[in-house]
Amino acid sequence: MAWQTGQEVIDDARAGDAGPAEAASCQVCRKAPYKYKCPGCGVSTCSLPCSRSHKAASGCTGKKDPTEFCTLRDFTDARLLSDFFLLQKATTAKQTARKVASHQAGTWQAQGHRSPAVLRQLMEQARRRGVKLRMQPPGMTKSRCNTSCWDSNAAALMWRVHWRFPAANDTCIQDRQVCEDAVFRDVLKSHLKPQPVLSSGTVWT
Ligand SMILES: [Zn+2]
Ligand SMILES: [Zn+2]
Repeated sequence: MAWQTGQEVIDDARAGDAGPAEAASCQVCRKAPYKYKCPGCGVSTCSLPCSRSHKAASGCTGKKDPTEFCTLRDFTDARLLSDFFLLQKATTAKQTARKVASHQAGTWQAQGHRSPAVLRQLMEQARRRGVKLRMQPPGMTKSRCNTSCWDSNAAALMWRVHWRFPAANDTCIQDRQVCEDAVFRDVLKSHLKPQPVLSSGTVWT
């Protein structure tokens, strides 16, 4: 590409090496001589406002893409250093992400919530079994109390079961984790043993 600045036509390819005598003009305002080259795309600009309007108009980030292909001939020490920093940055980002994830899981656990990872596993395993789960939002009391989960050691879903016996003074009993393989009768039987009379609304957990 070539463009006109006053009396002379300056070739784009040699614009970067142009001496003060043949200073190329800013590619944005096309008035002032350029002072800067955009590291992202090489566009010449004369000032910060022109650089900003170039970025706004083109969507250019103004940053050199560190993953851009580079031939062996162009692989300078500076390029090697840039690659080194990129890898270092990636490693740090990975470590930070791990720390944040484990911190978040710890916070969820400390608050007695099931972490998003635990919920995802529960939903996925339920889906595989053709069970349609309807989840309450995490903040809701029922969701906070729910202990249903996927037990990877037992390779089984563990369901929280609320038993309610209206005929027995509306007694409520809760099983924290009932294995999906458990037989309904056996689980129920464990609650039907002769017990002292319960007061209304007694909750066993
Ligand atoms: Zn300009
Ligand atoms: Zn640019």
